[in-house]
Amino acid sequence: MKKKGTGHNIKQPEKKCSDKNCPFHGTLSIRGRFLSGKVTSDKMSKSAIVSWDRKVFVPKFERYEKRKSKVNAHNPDCIDAKKGDLVLISECRPLSKTKHFVVVEILGKESAKDIIKAEAVAEDEGKEKAQSASFQASETDASVKKHKVLAKGD
Ligand SMILES: [Zn+2]
Repeated sequence: MKKKGTGHNIKQPEKKCSDKNCPFHGTLSIRGRFLSGKVTSDKMSKSAIVSWDRKVFVPKFERYEKRKSKVNAHNPDCIDAKKGDLVLISECRPLSKTKHFVVVEILGKESAKDIIKAEAVAEDEGKEKAQSASFQASETDASVKKHKVLAKGD
């Protein structure tokens, strides 16, 4: 007897499909990690590239650098994630050389959270720029004063 659902607490897609590698309508079982990211390409047939940013601490500079993680995921017809969608992907058996994840749910389009985050980052950058600008300004002021002092000395 075919088991219903994926055995996980995931919303069933509204559409149906005849893909045997679909975790809802096929025989593909999902196991392992769940990840979420943004679809950066949907050009391949039944595949999507999902990527997300992560931060890595660089001890030398005591700052974080942004790195990107990218995986190929199976994109069944019933889900049909498009570029820009935020998706939940789950690990599954290897479906091809580079594909061992499957899109299981669309969490949203270009989420508001990300936009807020991007704005916050932009603001922070702006602040930093302003700070560095004021620092430079004070530095130039100081050097100007020095010059003036030197000029007076002469
Ligand atoms: Zn399906």
